[in-house]
Amino acid sequence: MLDGDTGTRCSAAGCTAPAVHAVHWRNPRIHDVDRVKTWAACDAHRESLAAWLRSRAFPVTITAFGETVERVA
Ligand SMILES: [Zn+2]
Repeated sequence: MLDGDTGTRCSAAGCTAPAVHAVHWRNPRIHDVDRVKTWAACDAHRESLAAWLRSRAFPVTITAFGETVERVA
């Protein structure tokens, strides 16, 4: 996630805004329940990234960037 001295950028394609939210998710078909994937998100893309995941029926949890979660259910 971290890319050194420039800080972490939003995970949305083409977006260079700094990450301020963390979108934690899991694909239930391929990930165990304790597996957590995390995308970085700016304010503008937090909801669109989460919506993309929810549209695929993936569990999603959003936190402040830098926070971690034990699991998403
Ligand atoms: Zn963004």
